[in-house]
Amino acid sequence: MITERTEEELKKIKKDVLDCRECPLYRERAKNKFCPVIGEGSHQVKIIFVGEAPGLNEAKTGRPFCGAAGKILDELLESVDIKRKDVYITNILNDRPPENRDPQPEEIKACTPYLEKQIEIIKPKIICPLGRYSMKFLMEKFGLENQLEGISKIHGKLFESNNFFQHIIIIPFYHPAVATYNPNMKKILKEDFKILKTI
Ligand code: URA
Repeated sequence: MITERTEEELKKIKKDVLDCRECPLYRERAKNKFCPVIGEGSHQVKIIFVGEAPGLNEAKTGRPFCGAAGKILDELLESVDIKRKDVYITNILNDRPPENRDPQPEEIKACTPYLEKQIEIIKPKIICPLGRYSMKFLMEKFGLENQLEGISKIHGKLFESNNFFQHIIIIPFYHPAVATYNPNMKKILKEDFKILKTI
């Protein structure tokens, strides 16, 4: 249950991210007058989606998945009758890497404590990493490193973790952006998303 206290804690994360100078990407944010992307959606959710990093549209608006990949994500959610307002959407990085390059280990290290706090506060039942970087981080965090394989092997599969006395389901998906340059991937993503209707 979300109380006033947890709402306060989530607001504090936003403030901490705004003030954070640890991440090498902070300079990019400042130079380009970008916004950090903290997360969006209901705080009383069963499912959290975790992407990789904001793109240009996201960095300009401060909203996760609001560009081309976001359109695909919206379509995938709609295909399984899930409303965007009924899930929480965030990323492993809060700031845009230059030229949308892959997240670097030191950036993941600097940003993921905020994601960990968001997960602790929201206490979702299901976490859906979108893409291989968030898959790796989240499966390792929840003690599933022995079952970690390439995303082409384990996309759409359900993993259960009882780490930290907490039961969590992890379902990795391909990153929705893959469907922006390979339309066949949208079919695969839609098939994979069907698992969400069975839980
Ligand atoms: N790609 C991501 O991984 N996250 C976003 O918020 C947008 C695009």
